Amino acid sequence: MAEDKTNAVRESAAPEMHFQAKNALAIVKIYSGRPVRIMEVCGTHTHAIFRYGIRSLLPENVNLISGPGCPVCVTETGYIDEAVFLTKKENVTLTTFGDLIRVPGSETSLAGARANGADVRIVYSPFDALKMAGDNPNREIVFLSVGFETTVPAELLCVKRAKEAGIRNFSLLVANKTMDNAYPVLKDSADAFLYPGHVSTMTGMGIYRKLQKEGISGAVCGFTADEILTALAVLLTKLGEGRPFAENCYPRVVTEEGSPAARTLIAELTCPCDTVWRGIGVIPGSGLALREEYAAWDAAKKFSVPHLSGHPNPACRCGDILRGEIRPPECPLFGRTCTPDHPVGACMVSSEGTCAAYYKYSGHGDAAGAFLGR
Ligand code: SF4
Repeated sequence: MAEDKTNAVRESAAPEMHFQAKNALAIVKIYSGRPVRIMEVCGTHTHAIFRYGIRSLLPENVNLISGPGCPVCVTETGYIDEAVFLTKKENVTLTTFGDLIRVPGSETSLAGARANGADVRIVYSPFDALKMAGDNPNREIVFLSVGFETTVPAELLCVKRAKEAGIRNFSLLVANKTMDNAYPVLKDSADAFLYPGHVSTMTGMGIYRKLQKEGISGAVCGFTADEILTALAVLLTKLGEGRPFAENCYPRVVTEEGSPAARTLIAELTCPCDTVWRGIGVIPGSGLALREEYAAWDAAKKFSVPHLSGHPNPACRCGDILRGEIRPPECPLFGRTCTPDHPVGACMVSSEGTCAAYYKYSGHGDAAGAFLGR
């Protein structure tokens, strides 16, 4: 199996990459330095690492840890409760991407609310929700805005267009986050980070240069087997040099400057705020609140939604998983009472969730614990 994957690793076409993929694989496989912990903070990386069997290629002293890079997973239970609260308002249609609908709240999920008659609809884009608002002027259309820098610009563009077009029956219930303030909080959980490829297309390398000055190391990583192995080889090599670093191993997509247009839009419509991350707590300045001049499109203000703190299932270990302290098979509910069909926590619901990845790619329950070992 490992041999097949070895053959599948092709030479990288990106000239800036420091290693051809086959050399990267060799560097990773023969690594014999001190034990290192590398945290991939992006849920898409977690799934790709499983899909390509990357863990099976690593020596014992390289420990890959999954972190809090799935926006659905890090959204606190209270936000789901607030969304459920909104569904009880007269004339409100709640719109959301698919994953969020099954995340358990304190009492029920949005799917549960819908089963009890609430108007909750899955959309594929916030623009679908904006169109719905334009087509249904007598209903209030609320979109659940949960994401990182990657998805936020499209949602803000909808708000901007709604304002320009005088569409006032469209609003966002906001729980957006930015990753840059999360790394310092997580720095003791890992020796280096596999930085997320998608978010980095927006931020550019600037935030990582700043983290480097704070002593935090990592490499931006793409999503093919070649790119992940290359980034791992770069990380292991640079860690051996003993100095903080910030490397771009996804140069075909990520640039130094990122997307100035997206950052301008974010700065124009939002301001940083303190926000709660599931399992981590409040990270100062890591949220993106709509500015006061856009209050009419802020569902929390428009509908006087109370701040609800939420009560997740106390047996769920999502918080420990998001901090990289345990792996899903160490949760006593994994594969038993908690499965993708009957998720107890957000990490089993989301298509980017760590528990969902372990369940999908490694069997489940005891078998997963034995198979995954580390
Ligand atoms: S397996 Fe289920 S209950 Fe356990 S941490 Fe993951 S989502 Fe929570």
